[in-house]
Amino acid sequence: MAQDATRFYINGEWVSPHSAARQDLINPSTEEVFAEVALGGGEDVNRAIAAAKAAFHGFAKWSPAERLDLLKAINAKVIERNGEIAEAISTEMGAPTALACGAQAPSGIQHFSEIIRVLETFDFEERLGTTIVRREPVGVCALITPWNWPMNQIATKVAPALAAGCTMVLKPSELAPLDAVILAEIIDDVGAPAGVFNLVHGDGAGVGSALTAHADVDMVSFTGSTRAGVAISHNAAATIKRVALELGGKSANIVLDDADFSTVIPASVRGVMLNSGQSCNAQTRLLVSESRYQEAAELAAATASAITVGPSDSNADIGPIANKAQYERVLEMIEKGVSEGAELLAGGAGPPDGLDRGYFVKPTVFGRVTSDMKIGREEIFGPVLSIMTYSDVSEAIEIANDTEYGLSGGVWSADQTRAYEVAAQLRTGMVHLNGASLDPSAPFGGYKKSGNGREWGKYGLEEFLELKSVYGANA
Ligand code: NAD
Repeated sequence: MAQDATRFYINGEWVSPHSAARQDLINPSTEEVFAEVALGGGEDVNRAIAAAKAAFHGFAKWSPAERLDLLKAINAKVIERNGEIAEAISTEMGAPTALACGAQAPSGIQHFSEIIRVLETFDFEERLGTTIVRREPVGVCALITPWNWPMNQIATKVAPALAAGCTMVLKPSELAPLDAVILAEIIDDVGAPAGVFNLVHGDGAGVGSALTAHADVDMVSFTGSTRAGVAISHNAAATIKRVALELGGKSANIVLDDADFSTVIPASVRGVMLNSGQSCNAQTRLLVSESRYQEAAELAAATASAITVGPSDSNADIGPIANKAQYERVLEMIEKGVSEGAELLAGGAGPPDGLDRGYFVKPTVFGRVTSDMKIGREEIFGPVLSIMTYSDVSEAIEIANDTEYGLSGGVWSADQTRAYEVAAQLRTGMVHLNGASLDPSAPFGGYKKSGNGREWGKYGLEEFLELKSVYGANA
């Protein structure tokens, strides 16, 4: 496993940062320092962007077949080092080993494999009579990623950017940078041309702002908070660069009365608690009809109370919250839920039994939550579920849409057609019918303040392409 994140990968070399600032990396299961991350500055960003800019001209000319070979070589090493990537993620953000090995690390393989599949047949040229529409790489990209599904979010950006023929500077989360170091080692190992991929560590105010304002960056692809998404959009505006944003959510999960509550409610609760609730697409508002509230409340409370919490190297169902700031925010939101008068059905603000050290939170369920409560409106990003009630299906849809976000959602019904009709009325980028899984080939992204771009599969590749119309070609 990568031991620290104190060097940057720029122009094909591991280099020392220009800036001397460093920050401790804290294991959220133990609250102990286990490594350091260097916090770069403007000089480091300038160096990395200059390298990416210099490499662009050559790399953009690579054929799709050449780019496929590069992606396949990277993916083979990502597969080979999956265990190390899982260990890094587990240590830096607290995912239990089973989740880190079974989902967090393999999500990198999933996105590289999918983009390879897409690139095999993708048409970069389209003919309209004597006009040729070309799809060309957008240019130098700044990729900025968070700590909650770190390899997933890095791979959803790096893989399509390479497939498109872009060059890039990756700034991973300063709180979980080690899996990115492993990916940089892999890209170095397979002999990618110098400057095509660059890695600079740092925080949002330093490296993040310098990247997004830079005149030589053609596109920013960002995943994280809506707050940072707004700041990035402002910062990028003066240079008219393309900005793709994958932001927060407060997704609704509508359970219709004909669904089987005994399986649907436990599955819904477990879905929210996965990754300690730190997923942008978590369906954190569970909507049931008023007449079935009591049944849903009891099932949800029993399910949440049975979910085990423990350190990342244990067999617990969920690990700690990934960092101290987020831990404090989740506890504050739980206290807010109580003070706002929601019914506390399971969990609460104290630490789980026997876990006095580490950022552990009890799986928490609130009932009788309404859209005017803070816990019914704001993204909590922790193991906290809010149950809300509706009187009829049209009110359920109204409540589901009564949010500034629009990332994901769910509809459960014994009648698939009815579920689909409800899904069609949700103002959200993704909807799961009866708990269906995500599809790596389908677009991932949101409406409203959940973002403005789409990732994954061919839709993710298209984000990194410019369109050029060439008129007057031979018929
Ligand atoms: P954040 O948005 O502040 O950080 C995510 C990434 O953006 C990090 O790499 C960070 O360094 C960078 N960044 C921050 N401010 C920036 C700026 N002004 N310019 C450029 N880059 C910037 O997220 P956070 O503070 O770690 O978490 C706060 C909240 O964000 C959470 O409570 C949660 O609600 C949400 N969140 C959402 C996602 C998601 O996948 N949508 C992921 C993480 C956090």
